[in-house]
Amino acid sequence: MVRINENYLRLPASYLFSEIARRAREFQAANPDARLMRLGIGNTTEPLAPSVIKGLHDGVEKLAHVETYSGYGDEQGDAALRRRIAEVKYGERGLAIEPDEIFISDGAKSDTANIQSLFDPFAVVAIQDPAYPVYVDTNVIAGRESFVSMACTEANGFVPSVPSIHADIIYICSPNNPTGAVATRANLEAFVAYALANDAIILYDAAYECFIRDRDLPRSIYEIVGARKCAIELGTFSKEAGFTGVRLGWTVVPKGLAIDAKNPRSVNELWNRRQTTFFNGASNVAQSGGLAALTPEGRHENDAIIELYMANGTVIREGLQSVGLTVYGGTNAPYVWAKCPAGYDSWAFFDKMLDEAHVITTPGSGFGPGGEGFLRLSAFGHPESIRRAVDSIRSNVRL
Ligand SMILES: *Cc1c(COP(=O)(O)O)cnc(C)c1O
Repeated sequence: MVRINENYLRLPASYLFSEIARRAREFQAANPDARLMRLGIGNTTEPLAPSVIKGLHDGVEKLAHVETYSGYGDEQGDAALRRRIAEVKYGERGLAIEPDEIFISDGAKSDTANIQSLFDPFAVVAIQDPAYPVYVDTNVIAGRESFVSMACTEANGFVPSVPSIHADIIYICSPNNPTGAVATRANLEAFVAYALANDAIILYDAAYECFIRDRDLPRSIYEIVGARKCAIELGTFSKEAGFTGVRLGWTVVPKGLAIDAKNPRSVNELWNRRQTTFFNGASNVAQSGGLAALTPEGRHENDAIIELYMANGTVIREGLQSVGLTVYGGTNAPYVWAKCPAGYDSWAFFDKMLDEAHVITTPGSGFGPGGEGFLRLSAFGHPESIRRAVDSIRSNVRL
């Protein structure tokens, strides 16, 4: 009899989105005339920018002709795209990242899930609470049992201080999903100092970097001196260019990353080995779209779409504040983190929003115990739908 990997049995039940769907379905069945509105989804909604569409078309067109056809490409990604990411995301900001430190993938979720496989099964893992569930779950599947929880609270502005005990791997997501909080330069300096002192590695999820508007906030961990020695950064076209369905991301593994003294192989080399073994490269059509997204026109067009989402965030923030709710996030991130009023936990407030305003949100408790007492509202959506949902909250929710 083949035995399963029993680590899967140790995973916490993941019922958040199915439970949201179940409650919405039941409400709809009981109230057939109610028109449900969604402020819960973390998914892009606006069409791709014209230059990106052209880039994707160009990629398809190349496949139509024998002279330009290509099959498998480099597992690490198209050389021109790696150069362009190095230039646009790092070089222009004065950060020295070489194209061969950038590995193109089908998105940041896969890389975030896979990167932990490079490290020791007994490594101690520090994770923000609340957090994107991939960080904990993939380490549980890998058999890790030692976790350090980094509490994100109102008191610390939802950016934790460094762990008070030793950790080997530290996940940081900034701008944060779900809280919308953004780490300051001082916050990240403390984490880099901690990582260097503990021989730890920071896994920095920069998926929402494009939403940072405040020029003083860091957009890459490599803005912090010393980070090249201790940090891996994950990037994606999903939120910046609407590639949630197209699928394209990248991971930066600096060649200078400090390594296990007993096994002097670079992490860059290990990740290359891992990717060339498990992955056959991102779609060439998607990569053609990604190149277009990073041209001056593509960036300009995408900025306008990001601005549209940011304006949604402002509508949500101000709408919730006008009914007396305390809200966080939503200014340098597409998520608003709303505090439940006294007497309500996350699910009770979710139900109140559904019953009274017909608005679907996401209970903060679904992202970890530290999310209890909050709701996540998403700025992804068409502006008119967002406005309708917020108007309904203003008119119908009584606190
Ligand atoms: C959306 C998101 C990503 C990006 O995932 P892709 O696989 O690139 O679409 C990564 N991290 C977080 C926290 C996210 O919310």
